[in-house]
Amino acid sequence: MSRKILDVKGVNKSFAGLKALNEVVFDAVEGETHAIIGPNGAGKSTFINIISGLLDPDGGSFKLNGRSFKPKNRMESLDLGVALASQELSLIDNLSVAENIFLSTLPTKNYKIDDRELRKKAKELLDLVGLEQSLLEVPAGNLSLAEKQLVELAKSLSLPIDRTSLLILDEPTAALNSFQADRLHNILLDRVKKGVSILYVSHRLEDVLFVCDEVSVLHEGEIKFTSN
Ligand code: ADP
Ligand code: MG
Repeated sequence: MSRKILDVKGVNKSFAGLKALNEVVFDAVEGETHAIIGPNGAGKSTFINIISGLLDPDGGSFKLNGRSFKPKNRMESLDLGVALASQELSLIDNLSVAENIFLSTLPTKNYKIDDRELRKKAKELLDLVGLEQSLLEVPAGNLSLAEKQLVELAKSLSLPIDRTSLLILDEPTAALNSFQADRLHNILLDRVKKGVSILYVSHRLEDVLFVCDEVSVLHEGEIKFTSN
């Protein structure tokens, strides 16, 4: 029987009295890619920012991996295995690409940062997302928007696979060309093969059709349709 990696009910969120999410019910099956699509302003980012610990919900019940889940902040959600490539890229301009990638998932050795390991893994991740290794020491602020988006992706992939319960990507192709988007989608297919569960948020249906097992449509803060 399929297990639910994420199971949420009755999620509400308002901003200044305006409802962004209204009684959202959503679940995602472990080991699958579930897409959330919907037009701009539908509430997609609000929803995943709640799951990622960046926003507090006004109400709702949340389970991750069958356990009650109420992350108070991003670190708490990350500790429980929720990796995120944010739509509002989370990079810090004056830190290097390598430092940004491992900002929250630093490899340590005897409680010290393992610099050699950090560089090796950062190179592997740059290679994976299709960026030159020469960018490793470049401040993130000097990158193009597409490069920043790929570093954001590398950052989300820096959480080891065996510690990733749910990989969330919010509009990950917004700044990418079709070649880069295809590469991203192949990375996602590979992660799913390795057992990772993915939540893929987009306003472009054609983006998600190739990679997702299930699609939910969010419109005006409500889930209007779920496939299967
Ligand atoms: P989507 O990601 O689907 O484009 P969002 O979740 O970003 O949609 O936004 C949903 C609604 O909530 C929009 O009307 C948006 O203006 C509003 N909203 C989102 N974040 C905030 C915020 N921090 N403050 C005020 N309004 C917000
Ligand atoms: Mg959004």
